[in-house]
Amino acid sequence: MGNADEVNIVDRLEQYKAHGFIGFYSTTASAALMTKLKEFRDNGKVEAFEIYDGSRIENGFHDVGLSGVLLQHLPQSHTTLRPIHPLLGTYQPLPCDVCGKDLLKSSLTEQYSGMITFGSQTEEDHDERVVERVSFVCKGECGDKMERKNFRLGLTEGWDDITDYCNPLIFIRRVTGYINELRSGSTKYSQAAHDRMIDFYMAMSQRTLRQTSAEDRQKLLDVMELDAMGF
Ligand SMILES: [Zn+2]
Repeated sequence: MGNADEVNIVDRLEQYKAHGFIGFYSTTASAALMTKLKEFRDNGKVEAFEIYDGSRIENGFHDVGLSGVLLQHLPQSHTTLRPIHPLLGTYQPLPCDVCGKDLLKSSLTEQYSGMITFGSQTEEDHDERVVERVSFVCKGECGDKMERKNFRLGLTEGWDDITDYCNPLIFIRRVTGYINELRSGSTKYSQAAHDRMIDFYMAMSQRTLRQTSAEDRQKLLDVMELDAMGF
């Protein structure tokens, strides 16, 4: 939409004595139009106006949980929109440890195609299990390669579907499960494995948690500042 169209909008609002205006923009509305609409509202020429720009429309799909509808009816837009939201402004991918493919991104279009694997050993004198290696792999060839590697290292492999972690209920069940495992001591994790668990949950939360707002991020910074002060 060009500036000429917008000037016409303002003229037409006046001409038809419209009470309000709702505009949908693929990018953003021009500053000139916004100024004019505010002026109209302030002097009572219109009662209200709403502008839906590109990011407001996109956020609408995330905020009200419409990404399923988007995927069903506009799969191409869904892929472009990628309802993955970097929690802290920078996207953290989840690359396959064998081929490098981003398993988080592919979780949008390919269900149950990636997995997290746990290479563990059981200590002989007691029943304790120690997870030595945590890996992220595509199912199939990459998964087979990882399984052979774990086997060569003398580790027993367990695995879980990455898609499951996109479900908030399973996500929180796995998080609390991990905390409980650590507390009970039934399963121990090497430092490297634990670091990978943290990376994994951070990456997955970009899909599973709701989109954060600027206010959420500011609150986090406040909390981190207090934490650093030792309160
Ligand atoms: Zn792979």
